[in-house]
Amino acid sequence: MTFKSYLESNGENCPKCGSTAIKASASPEKMKAGKMQVSMFCGTCGARWRDIYALSKAEEL
Ligand SMILES: [Zn+2]
Repeated sequence: MTFKSYLESNGENCPKCGSTAIKASASPEKMKAGKMQVSMFCGTCGARWRDIYALSKAEEL
């Protein structure tokens, strides 16, 4: 697995080992306007990485 295939799978599998046992290791935090980052962790191989999200839509609650 690579980060490219990680993105192609919409973040469903660990970018290192392909495991689905991945979870956020911290709460999302704002990086700058329109961007959020989430620290991620793989429970199978211990890999750590960061997901970066860009604002794409907003709707009323
Ligand atoms: Zn892994």
